[in-house]
Amino acid sequence: MSKPTTNLKFNVAQLLREYVGGSRQYDFVESVLRLDDVLEMHDIVGEVRFTRTTSGVLVDVHARGTVEMECVRCLNPAVQHVEVRFRDEFHSRIDVTTGTPLPQPDEEDPFYLDELHMADVGEMLREYVLLELPMQPLCRSDCRGLCPECGADLNVEQCSCSSTSVDERFATLRTLLRPE
Ligand SMILES: [Zn+2]
Ligand SMILES: [Zn+2]
Repeated sequence: MSKPTTNLKFNVAQLLREYVGGSRQYDFVESVLRLDDVLEMHDIVGEVRFTRTTSGVLVDVHARGTVEMECVRCLNPAVQHVEVRFRDEFHSRIDVTTGTPLPQPDEEDPFYLDELHMADVGEMLREYVLLELPMQPLCRSDCRGLCPECGADLNVEQCSCSSTSVDERFATLRTLLRPE
């Protein structure tokens, strides 16, 4: 069974009324998911499986998409193709049939279903995708970066600055730091 959604939120109220072990599976597509103040994930495609547990639903997610970052060497776009697979759990705060509060899980920063029994898979996906992204993104593995003298993008042009000037500068710095 597949049901594309537009906001990565899934209603699991019906599943919560089933026995432990009952499950649902959906495919999803989403054009964009904001990851943090700067980054967005685009063209997201994935599958999610929800399995009823005693305290909520277990979720298995497989998703992929692209994240445009900035190359640390040349500052041009460095598009990352990201794929994540993870298993996590959403906990219910209230019993789906009686509405009575449920005990808190002894887990640090658990994910919760909201009061309408919606599972926000996007919230979870955001955390896992951020962990997957490189700390030092490169536009390509052999990016030549920017000239430290004039700022020219050395991938597209060869500037007239001497490549030895950097070494000379460091040599001067070394003597300054280590006065004889
Ligand atoms: Zn680059
Ligand atoms: Zn230069």
